[in-house]
Amino acid sequence: MARDTGSQCRICRRETEKLFLKGDRCYTEKCAVERRQYPPGQHGQRRGKLSDYGVQLREKQKVRKIYGVLEKQFRRYFHIAEKKKGVTGEVLLQLLETRMDNIVCRMGFAPNRNSARQLVTHGHFLVNGKKVNIPSCNLHVGDTVEVKEASREMDLIKDSLSKVEQRGIPSWIEVDFQNFKGKVLQIPAREEIQLPAQEQLIVELYSK
Ligand code: SF4
Repeated sequence: MARDTGSQCRICRRETEKLFLKGDRCYTEKCAVERRQYPPGQHGQRRGKLSDYGVQLREKQKVRKIYGVLEKQFRRYFHIAEKKKGVTGEVLLQLLETRMDNIVCRMGFAPNRNSARQLVTHGHFLVNGKKVNIPSCNLHVGDTVEVKEASREMDLIKDSLSKVEQRGIPSWIEVDFQNFKGKVLQIPAREEIQLPAQEQLIVELYSK
């Protein structure tokens, strides 16, 4: 499975914005964006004003990096969103948001999407009672996600659940922490997707 293996904090610094890619560390003063609020690299502090294209490109890169999706796959999500009913930008975010790795992270079973992706790939979750190990699989309303019984004592999962209050659970999913189980209640509307992004800029970029 292809994925981005570069420094996560460098990605945030590139966007000069906290993208919460690491989990707990993001909520502490160790966060690299808090310490250095300029892009990385030799000329990071001297970058000029971005063109319209540059602004759109950065917005797309930001959302792509937040969800940990490579360019080809991200473009494919956009084409699917274009063909679906509704506002393309919102549908795009809904497709990304209902990916299994994102939902596992949103439910609090993993501290960040990278860890969620690894846990899913290693087969630690059941969807509607069946083992699913594809992080990109899209879940639907009513689907349940459950940590396999044999995996419930894993430190990564237990640690993540102990800090879930800090991150919060979105209103469109519910979680039964005692039984390590969550459910998708609805497809999130735009205002329920906590994402610092202007998806319209991505639509403009890909519509050129
Ligand atoms: Fe981004 Fe988190 Fe690193 Fe801060 S600590 S720069 S929010 S990944």
